Amino acid sequence: MLIDPSDVAICVAGDEEIEAQGAAPTSTPIVQTSLFTFPNFQALVDGLGAEHRSHVYTRGRNPTVEAVERKLAALERGEACKCFGSGMAAISAVMLGLLRSGDHILFVNHTYGPTLQLAEHLSRFGIEHDLLLDLDVHAFEQALRPNTQLVWLESPGTMLFRVLDIPALTSVARERGIPTCVDNSWATPLCQKPLSLGADIVVHSCTKYLAGHSDLVAGAVISTSERIEEIFFRAFLLNGGILAPFDAWLLLRGLRTLPIRLRQHEADALRVARFLQGHPAVRRVFHPALTEDSQLVERQFSGYSGLLSFELVRGDFESVARFIDGLRRFRIGVSWGGVESLVISPNRGTNRLELEARGIPPGMVRLSIGLEGSDVLIDDLAGALDLLG
Ligand SMILES: *Cc1c(COP(=O)(O)O)cnc(C)c1O
Repeated sequence: MLIDPSDVAICVAGDEEIEAQGAAPTSTPIVQTSLFTFPNFQALVDGLGAEHRSHVYTRGRNPTVEAVERKLAALERGEACKCFGSGMAAISAVMLGLLRSGDHILFVNHTYGPTLQLAEHLSRFGIEHDLLLDLDVHAFEQALRPNTQLVWLESPGTMLFRVLDIPALTSVARERGIPTCVDNSWATPLCQKPLSLGADIVVHSCTKYLAGHSDLVAGAVISTSERIEEIFFRAFLLNGGILAPFDAWLLLRGLRTLPIRLRQHEADALRVARFLQGHPAVRRVFHPALTEDSQLVERQFSGYSGLLSFELVRGDFESVARFIDGLRRFRIGVSWGGVESLVISPNRGTNRLELEARGIPPGMVRLSIGLEGSDVLIDDLAGALDLLG
């Protein structure tokens, strides 16, 4: 993993605005307030006239939240960031803030389930969408419609971790004046910088690696100041999906160890991937490092995180469940990116056809590699695979 030293500095540093004031706390203060009061009425009137720039009410701006926003904008090399109470709140705000009835969204690659469910819901409001699983640029050009107003990219994609050629896709979209948004939760800005690859907007579920300790839910959108202002007034301030000051503080604390955590997640996940590749009970391992076009991957990623998946040779629900229940170290649960290793499968025993339609094999198992150490985790996996006989 090649982490830009300036990114490490951003993660580890305290808050520059607070430190500029002289003797400063090393940890950013939690400004636990719902509102801010003014010395006179005219000052309040002025604040209300520019709520994206002033402290009026915590549903708009809050200093602790702004400290995280400055860091995330800097890490993604974007002009501005807005944080939200969850990744889904951030994703909703991009769609609701930028789209109107009659518009079309094109999703490219396997996309986080709830993001697609939100798009389904938006069809009630006249917003259409398509999901494109053919990742070829020509297929992409064919799938764009005259009313496409947003291109949504996940790279690597959900579950199969297929990698998109972000510069190629975003340049086609840009020629046609269509904004592109990349969900960068998997890679984090330390391993991939979509804005530098040509994307217009980046979203994050900060719940995963950025916070990193499975103790909060948060989201973020990074883009130009102009677009963030649009999202602020149209979607953020009115939808009310705020990040609470205390959760912002936890997220700041998580960011301070992000570079060192990610290096360990990467190394241990690659060791686990290699072990699984050599096991007879495993048909295939899915991890961006195993992509055939290694030049594409090297151009876009400066490192990898610790979420991967693999296909069991025995894909019936009973075998999948026996394997998962046979693990002792991996805990069974949704989400990922924390210090604890987690296991889950998209196979629910009743959705075989649905999985087939999405090209997901029924023996699919997803692992989030935590920080317990790869030897312990590989032993655990070996034991559970043995149970499949
Ligand atoms: C978890 C996740 C989200 C949603 O984030 P929440 O914080 O759970 O709302 C969005 N995209 C991806 C890729 C995710 O894994």
